[in-house]
Amino acid sequence: MTQLEAAKQGKITPEMERVAAREKRTPEFIREGVAAGRIVIPANKNHRGLDPLGIGAGLRTKVNANIGTSPRHLNAEQELVKLRTALDAGADAVMDLSTGGDLDALRKQTIAASHVPVGTVPIYQAAIEALKRHGSIVAMSADEIFQVIERHAADGVDFITVHCGVTRESVNRLRRQGRITDIVSRGGCFVLGWMLHHGAENPLYAQFDRLLEICRRYDVTLSLGDGLRPGCLADATDRAQVQELIILGELVDRARERGVQVMVEGPGHVPLDQVAANVQLQKSLCRDAPFYVLGPLVTDVAPGYDHIVSAVGGAVAAMAGADFLCYVTPAEHLGLPTAEDVREGVIAARIAGHAADIVKGVPGAREQDLAMARARKALDWEKQVALAIDPEKARRLRQQRNPAGIRECTMCGEFCAMRLVAEFLGTTRALC
Ligand code: SF4
Repeated sequence: MTQLEAAKQGKITPEMERVAAREKRTPEFIREGVAAGRIVIPANKNHRGLDPLGIGAGLRTKVNANIGTSPRHLNAEQELVKLRTALDAGADAVMDLSTGGDLDALRKQTIAASHVPVGTVPIYQAAIEALKRHGSIVAMSADEIFQVIERHAADGVDFITVHCGVTRESVNRLRRQGRITDIVSRGGCFVLGWMLHHGAENPLYAQFDRLLEICRRYDVTLSLGDGLRPGCLADATDRAQVQELIILGELVDRARERGVQVMVEGPGHVPLDQVAANVQLQKSLCRDAPFYVLGPLVTDVAPGYDHIVSAVGGAVAAMAGADFLCYVTPAEHLGLPTAEDVREGVIAARIAGHAADIVKGVPGAREQDLAMARARKALDWEKQVALAIDPEKARRLRQQRNPAGIRECTMCGEFCAMRLVAEFLGTTRALC
């Protein structure tokens, strides 16, 4: 039985209990959210050691970190370092997007070392195996695609991105309207290539029930990918993107009917004034399915700083109701991220999520800021470090910039307004 099937039957599972405790919500709140499809708990029955995580309405905004090899960088040990870095930095989930080396071994390594949910994009492996077996990335059969999906599910993958909305209908619309960057999703690109090569409908759409059957068996959460997401601001919120989203909304209904948990992925590159509208559109068309956004990136011209660009868009998206932020690293658009890039990406996305959680009324979010404000006024540096989103950096900078260990910081020193005003007003004792 999947979490969704249990919730619909009124059962509270151990996973729902755990999510409730982590979120400071009641188990019934979680069960109701899962039953309605507003919350998902990606928890494959075969993922041992998983600490169950809830994603969706009324819960803390979650952050995903993508790791994985590429054909030119296929060091498994380095990916393990990135995984540990992402977890240490506070990532709530990781996706193994490996495309180089022994993909089965890399995936198993990631699952075994992760207490957080693990996601994959199985079409990558299907395409790579087709290249080896048939000489072309688009030459795989539909059966081979589903066999790879089944392999990922059996290994314990908790959620899979599947580009079911790249269909003849949506591709025709894309062609008619024209775009600057066409398709920038790797999975969307493979699916388009497959459709053109075989002259057939996307098998992930045409055989959606087959996909659902695999997911139901292992309780894999579907993450309906946006293969037609905009790759630049000029392509944002266009007909092709919206057409795909309408199709994904219909597939959300079908997944829920079959007891399969489902979330929906979203853009991409979006101007700031369209971010909230994109979230509202998704929530409306997909009947409040949790929304998993990549960015959004709110400008195209800051390579090297796209973690910040993404955090700006992510904060606005999460404030408008997005539930799950896929991090972007400083290396986005430039190369495969290093472990340090991973750390910066996770922290930037966590800041975006937390900023939104404060105004979304997520339990504990505003209280954390209030505690930090009190610690600042009291010049309590230990408490400030403990409350920081990145305690390691806060501690390091405090120590580096204040080797003499003065009570204030070196910004104002003896003219510290925090201390002086407390003395002027006689509030020092009360605050400390
Ligand atoms: S010295 Fe200045 S910056 Fe530092 S804690 Fe005091 S008021 Fe704040």
